[in-house]
Order: sequence, then structure tokens, then C-alpha cells
Amino acid sequence: MAGAIGGLTVFDAAAVSRGLDPDAARATVREAMIALSDGRVRQLLRSFIGLGEGRTFAIMPAALGEGAAFGAKLVSVFADGAGRKSHEGVVVLFDGESGAPICIADAGEVTALRTPAASAAATQALARPDAASLAVLGLGRQAMGHIAAIACVRPLSSVTVWGRDPGRAEAFAERAGRQTGLSVRAVAEAERCVADAAIVCTVTGAADPILQGGWIAPGTHVNLVGSSGPAQAEADAALVAAARYIVDHREHVLAHGGEFLRAKAAGVVGDAHIAAEIGEVFAGTAPGRTSPDEITVYKSLGHAVQDLAVTAWLHAHAAEVLGRA
Ligand code: NDP
Repeated sequence: MAGAIGGLTVFDAAAVSRGLDPDAARATVREAMIALSDGRVRQLLRSFIGLGEGRTFAIMPAALGEGAAFGAKLVSVFADGAGRKSHEGVVVLFDGESGAPICIADAGEVTALRTPAASAAATQALARPDAASLAVLGLGRQAMGHIAAIACVRPLSSVTVWGRDPGRAEAFAERAGRQTGLSVRAVAEAERCVADAAIVCTVTGAADPILQGGWIAPGTHVNLVGSSGPAQAEADAALVAAARYIVDHREHVLAHGGEFLRAKAAGVVGDAHIAAEIGEVFAGTAPGRTSPDEITVYKSLGHAVQDLAVTAWLHAHAAEVLGRA
């Protein structure tokens, strides 16, 4: 259902998906990450309440700035025990002047769209200008979203995908090719999948590395997206150590960034290895890529500020978005 309940505007999944085009999502998330890094946004470390094996309730609050909207994402993340997860919940937005709740949006759909938008903005800033080949490890909702979003920031001539089940990877490649109009090919081994890619995205539910630093060619840009807790790492310590390591939020990555924490525990990096936050790179207060041969990594944990910013954008465009129903 989409509409207004007693002054509260509601965006269900269909309304979020219809309303939030990739360019608007990317620009909105980019501005939000600048505001997070320059201190305008106030955001607490996310809290988790365990609900039993593979089941979590996450509470992610933030305030977009003095007098600006504030609120929280409240989301359940339920794993199916086989590496797949459903994110279900709501983003609740409050008005910064009156303090009243003004909007609710479907959190699963907001998450599904804002995460690729953030990776695409990071890729736009960090990948080589001539990067035209993408490799995606993972075959889920985020994998599809990442192919579409990255295609908006680089003209992709080749997309390779890998999944742990080659049959599913073939089917996914066929579906992704049809949906995006790009040439998408399934590759049976992760190493071969990333071998010729200038941009790599990891979007799996893997708990242990599915990507090794030794496979990544100089000059590649990597988005590490799938692991959002300290116990999960999609890439090994060698990749972390080899890269210019740029994060969405330093404090969160020091607390919850599985790849970084494992590399630190192995003694191959210290806290100073985090070169910058992506918001600093977007703002031009920290360098992004410093040479064509450098490997860059963007570590995405995902943040309430992204959820709230895109929900605020939807709310600001409510008449137009809901009018399209
Ligand atoms: P889906 O459940 O739709 O897809 C998960 C994918 O990961 C599936 O393709 C699955 O493979 C694959 N996978 C699971 N375990 C393994 C493994 N051990 N080795 C290889 N592949 C594996 O999830 P989403 O696409 O929505 O999300 C993907 C990941 O991104 C999740 O971990 C999620 O928590 C995270 N995420 C991160 C966000 C961020 O902001 N950084 C935001 C949203 C999600 P198969 O197809 O064989 O089942």
C-alpha cells in the first residue's frame, strides 16, 4: 500500500522501487556520505538483538543534521541457513523541525537500492576512468542491483558473474543479461571470474573469503559489500593489505568490518591502513585513487544515513512518486 495515513506518508516496496531511479539514489547517497564524514550527520553504531541462530533484529538510528530529518531503520535479517538472507522492516523518518514522524518506507527495498547506489558512487570516484569490465561474486538481489548500478557509472563491455552453484550462475547470467541489456557471462571459478575485471563486487553471504588478493590485477577497483558484521569476511587479508583501503565509515569498520578485522588480527595492517572515508573522497578532502596501478577497495557496511537520505528524497518527491501509482 502507498499513500498517506493521518499525515504519515507510506512507501511500500513497489513505491520505493518506482520512485527511486538510480541517478537520484546515487546522488542522494553520495551527498549523505559527505555529510556523514564531515560531521553534519549524527549516527550511532548500529545495535543488534539476536533472535536465535541466523536471526537478528538491527536498529540503525541517525539524524541528518541540525534541523533536518532524523529516524531509524528497523530491520530483521533472517538467514535461511544456506547463505541467503531476507532484510525486512521499515525506515521511519521524522521531521527535524516539528519532531513528528512523517514517513515510513519499506526497508528491504530501500536497502536493495541504496546499497548498489553507494557502491556505484564509490566506483565512479575510485575505478580507473577506462574501467569497462565488471566481475560480480554472488547471485542474489544485491548482485543484480550492482550490475545495473555500476553500468550507470562506467560503460561496461563485459560482465562476468560467479556463484557457488554453476547452474544457478548460468541462469542468473541469462536473467541479468536480459534485464540490463549487457553482455553477462557466468564463470565457474571465482579466480577466473575476476581475472580480467577492472571492477569487482563481492555481494555474497559468505562467512569466509571467496576472493583472494593474489587474484586481483593492479589497477582494479573492488567493492566489498556482502559482509556487514565482524564475523564475516569475503576477501582475505592479502587483498586488504595490498589495497588503498577506503571505507564507508571508519568507526563502524574498526568495530564491524570483518575483512579489516581479520587482516588486523593477522598483523598485516594497523588502524592507519584505512586511508579515508568515501565521504572525504567525494568531498575532495582526501585523495581517492592515487595511480592507475593502485588496487582500490571500497568497504561497504551500509548505514542508516543512506536509508534516511533516500527516504527523505522519496518524501520530498512524494506527490510525483505516489502519483505514478
Ligand atoms: P541474497 O540472499 O539475495 O543473496 C546472497 C548470495 O550470496 C546468493 O547468491 C548466495 O548463493 C551467495 N552466497 C551465500 N553464501 C555463500 C558462500 N559461502 N559462498 C558463495 N556464495 C554464497 O542476499 P543479498 O543479495 O540481498 O545480499 C548479499 C549480501 O550483502 C548479504 O550478506 C547481505 O547481508 C549483504 N548486504 C550488505 C549491505 C551493505 O550495505 N553493505 C546491504 C544489503 C545486504 P546462492 O545463490 O548459491 O544461494
